[in-house]
Amino acid sequence: MCLFCDIVAGKIPSDKVYENEYVLCFNDINPVTPVHVLVVPKKHFDNINELASDPEGALYSAEITKAIAEAAKIKGISEGFRTINNCGEDGGQSVMHVHFHVLGGTKFTEKIV
Ligand code: AMP
Ligand code: ZN
Repeated sequence: MCLFCDIVAGKIPSDKVYENEYVLCFNDINPVTPVHVLVVPKKHFDNINELASDPEGALYSAEITKAIAEAAKIKGISEGFRTINNCGEDGGQSVMHVHFHVLGGTKFTEKIV
């Protein structure tokens, strides 16, 4: 069982921002910024390593990129936002279905990189 697969399947509700054939974007349940959207591929990949090595990885990666831009546009933060992917335990990933955090609605002052 995977939490985000259940959300994609509609078994668990989500606060949807945008959806198409390949991706579902929804508001994070525990936002860390005024805008905090999760971009999730509808196909299960554990993490970015699996996304990169899967035969459909290029397709889904392109769709994820487009969905990040679309979600930012819908939320009115196209002028500036931050995208984060946590990969694996050391990367701080807690839900093992690859996803990208789109953060905005604030000016980021602290930088990690
Ligand atoms: P990560 O730590 O990068 O794996 O991110 C997992 C994210 O999923 C966290 O920011 C959680 O707040 C978020 N999350 C967990 N459960 C839900 C849920 N049911 N709906 C929306 N977001 C969730
Ligand atoms: Zn999954």
